[in-house]
Amino acid sequence: MRRIRTLPENDHNSGWLESLPSRPVKQRLQGDVKADCAIIGAGFCGLSIARRLAELRPDWKVVIIDAQKVGYGASGRSSGFVVDLTDAAALMPPAIRDGYVRLARAGIDGLRNLVREHNIDCAWDEKGWIRAYAGDKGQFYLDRLPPIYDELGYHYEPLDAAGMEAITGTSFYRAGIRLPGYPLIQSGALVLGMADCLPESIEIFEESPVTAFETGPPHRLISPRGSIEAEHLFIATNGYTPFLGYFQSRIFPLYTFGSLTRVLTADEQAALGGENEWGILAMDPMGSSVRRTRDQRLLIRNTIYHNNNLQVSEAKNREILANHRLAFEARFGKLGAIDFEYTWGGLMGSAKNSQLSFAELSKQVYSTAGFTAAGIAMGTAAGRVLVDFALGEDSQLVSDILALPKATWMPPNPFRSIGGSFMAERMNRQAGDTL
Ligand SMILES: Cc1cc2nc3c(=O)[nH]c(=O)nc-3n(C[C@H](O)[C@H](O)[C@H](O)COP(=O)(O)OP(=O)(O)OC[C@H]3O[C@@H](n4cnc5c(N)ncnc54)[C@H](O)[C@@H]3O)c2cc1C
Repeated sequence: MRRIRTLPENDHNSGWLESLPSRPVKQRLQGDVKADCAIIGAGFCGLSIARRLAELRPDWKVVIIDAQKVGYGASGRSSGFVVDLTDAAALMPPAIRDGYVRLARAGIDGLRNLVREHNIDCAWDEKGWIRAYAGDKGQFYLDRLPPIYDELGYHYEPLDAAGMEAITGTSFYRAGIRLPGYPLIQSGALVLGMADCLPESIEIFEESPVTAFETGPPHRLISPRGSIEAEHLFIATNGYTPFLGYFQSRIFPLYTFGSLTRVLTADEQAALGGENEWGILAMDPMGSSVRRTRDQRLLIRNTIYHNNNLQVSEAKNREILANHRLAFEARFGKLGAIDFEYTWGGLMGSAKNSQLSFAELSKQVYSTAGFTAAGIAMGTAAGRVLVDFALGEDSQLVSDILALPKATWMPPNPFRSIGGSFMAERMNRQAGDTL
């Protein structure tokens, strides 16, 4: 029996989730349940696994179990940029890169179809988010993109400083590239919408941590008030996966943090100027992601942090808030002091080379994890493809995911944790005045 000592806590700080109407827990695991398949984790990846299982094995009893409320992992905390080409993927050899993009686009298409079919109200916006820079290093990285976009056949719109200011109302950025067709979302609303439109045959147990498990088959999951016995097990716990004892030498837990302001008044919106909804992913190393949301808040996301106990101290939270304030003032100082209504952290799974992990861990136990800060599309796609792989469905996407480079090996703890902290702090320092 594997015991899991470090568990996710129900953290209620995500601005995306907390700004939605409150939603009661539908069901906790009580008593002993038997199923054909159990999924641990109710984020983009776990929910995508469940949907694909319902397509391929409609007669199976499938249950999802999560320690937190649905979506309260990274999925309901993400900044909402739906990405198909990460910076790491852009540098891969073209044949592998194209496979990565096919996978991520399958994720985007799947999400778009769900949103349309089920009218999920998640501020889905395809005007296109922007890659932009404020410093010289950012310019160097942005200048590499157009030839890659040309090879991939993307439609993109270069923007100079004036063009950036016309959209965002701030003169902070020197240039950018807009990618029409790449969605921005309210990530909390999308992940909850995905859970709500699952076929009725799929049961979700929220606030039910798996505290121990034994693999079979049959596999047995233990939670404080009940247990699940299942023939098949999918582990969709992303950054938490090393705490379950898997991918420990490939994935390390990495936090990043977001803040949302209160809703801007009509006068503040007019003073800001520009378009009323947009998003910027920085090209500057460790530069902030910034958005003006549909409900007229400003988002700042920056800073990464590694630790091994799933806790962020008060001192760290104060440091994060100061970083968010600094980034806000550099861009939106003309608006004066506007409070952040929400500040939160979220745990991602990351590899040294930013590659995901995807494997059969033992007989009829499967997992994929390590989506770093691009898991909305890729977590969705990898979950679906994991089911195809597990059930022997051959497809181009299965070949694409198996062809991706492996996540870099890391030494065991304490070396991995010391290395992870060192790397995170070194990366944070790169931001400088482009934070
Ligand atoms: C602040 C922030 C901003 C981000 N911005 C973006 C972005 O703009 N675009 C993008 O594509 N990605 C972004 N990401 C990354 C993205 O959110 C993740 O890659 C993605 O949500 C991962 O989804 P998932 O389903 O694999 O994992 P998660 O959503 O983390 O789900 C894993 C679930 O497993 C559960 N779990 C873990 N252990 C147990 C246990 N023992 N028992 C039961 N349940 C357990 C957790 O409670 C959790 O709900 C961001 C992440 C953060 C934190």
